Amino acid sequence: MPLNEVDVRWCWTFVVLSIATLACGRSSLVSVDVFFGDSGAPGPADPPYTETVTFANGLRLALTESPELTLTYPGASGNPFGAARTGHYQPVRFFIPLQSITLSHPLSENFVLSEFVGPTVERGGVWAYVDAQIADHVQRIRSGLGRPVILSSAFRAPEHNSVVGGASYSRHLYGDAVDIDVDQSRSDANTIGQEVFNEAMDVGVDFVLPLIDTSVDVSGQTRVSWVHIDDRGFR
Ligand SMILES: [Zn+2]
Repeated sequence: MPLNEVDVRWCWTFVVLSIATLACGRSSLVSVDVFFGDSGAPGPADPPYTETVTFANGLRLALTESPELTLTYPGASGNPFGAARTGHYQPVRFFIPLQSITLSHPLSENFVLSEFVGPTVERGGVWAYVDAQIADHVQRIRSGLGRPVILSSAFRAPEHNSVVGGASYSRHLYGDAVDIDVDQSRSDANTIGQEVFNEAMDVGVDFVLPLIDTSVDVSGQTRVSWVHIDDRGFR
């Protein structure tokens, strides 16, 4: 369904949600379109991404192109998994315009947009992407655990990813990776990490980084510090 048809349909939803600056229709001053409602299936689940992203809670965001940022992505053909996976490593073309959107928008029952893009905003980034599938999986992991979890990193633009030492083709570039923080100061950090790992496997996340690779030493004891999960689109 074209966006302009959805505009009218969800006009009153805007009002109810008290998004005061939003007017109905695409000719408003608002430069990003936000819709709440039953606007279709969540997705897209895998790259290449499109002009909109729809989250499982019905939030639908219109995305914007940033050719300059897209050009900083590594070429898909160089991905470490070969030609068969090239489709999953297409440079991201469409982004959430962070300066034009309320970062407190809920993406699911317990998570809001800022939890996925906070580090990008903190370093002055104005573009990000959040994959609908990983957002849904994070919510289901949190629901399964029955307690809040902290996301230490989600989307990272290539330059940001490089600064923090991420892999050249890290899924964080593609918005479908999340690091779930594990409090290393706790003596039961490994138990908590294992619980997160198990929940991630249960909900069907494509890839969960083995705990040994996410461990660091604390006072001679190896403790998990975070669990990386991603929905890269293949296993
Ligand atoms: Zn990660």
